[in-house]
Amino acid sequence: MARRRQIYEGKAKVLFEGPEPGTLVQYFKDDATAFNNKKKGTITGKGVLNNRISEFLMMRLGEMGIPTHFIRRLNMREQLIRQVEIIPVEVVVRNVAAGSLSQRLGLPEGSALPRSIVEYCYKNDDLDDPLVAEEHVTAFGWATPQELDEILSLALRINDYLSGLFYATGLRLIDYKLEFGRLWENDQMRIVLADEISPDSCRLWDVKTNEKLDKDRFRRDLGSVEEAYQEVARRLGILPESGPTDAPGTETLQ
Ligand code: UDP
Repeated sequence: MARRRQIYEGKAKVLFEGPEPGTLVQYFKDDATAFNNKKKGTITGKGVLNNRISEFLMMRLGEMGIPTHFIRRLNMREQLIRQVEIIPVEVVVRNVAAGSLSQRLGLPEGSALPRSIVEYCYKNDDLDDPLVAEEHVTAFGWATPQELDEILSLALRINDYLSGLFYATGLRLIDYKLEFGRLWENDQMRIVLADEISPDSCRLWDVKTNEKLDKDRFRRDLGSVEEAYQEVARRLGILPESGPTDAPGTETLQ
């Protein structure tokens, strides 16, 4: 870890300088936070699983023509990514009512939505990531109208693909958060999917039992948190043979 310069440390990940200009190394921690840092804990092996789950989903999305920041996984906890300028807007896609939407509009958790809903939140921890309108995003210059159009169209394509992918493994993709960034190549700029997609940022319920297999198990003290993340990885067919712990010599494990 001392071999690279740390660029940024977030709640669940650390970014280091990458081996080539324009790249970063994204390191996945076991730390978990909820309710804007008010609840803190550790989920053993979470970083290893999220690294694998996010790798898998970003690769599948890449194959579908969605541009992403992902380059390749380096080891159990790290992946190489392209350095992007993160757009300070969290894009929340919802298929079923849950969480803050249920609270805000008095909708029972689990009730069907008339159609998929995309919401925007301003990325600002001091303000608790407030829900904002498109108007705020463009008026304050967080993204241009063209960028926001592109983000919405990517989010809807991602949603169609991921909903189907998870459904095939017996999981309902209830809602999730995406982040996008600007990738500069020569003088050209593209919007690409960034950050991670994992049970930290998605709500995933078992299709038959509605059992929650995501960070709500941590947020709501439901227990078996590690097991839930492992189950998601297992269903996607990517649980490492050796289990989610860091084992010596795993740097070369693919
Ligand atoms: N989410 C996230 N990071 C955030 C806020 C939300 O990953 O800072 C995800 C969350 O896991 C859920 C979805 O976005 O899958 C919608 O979250 P919601 O607005 O319902 O907020 P919450 O109930 O998680 O506070």
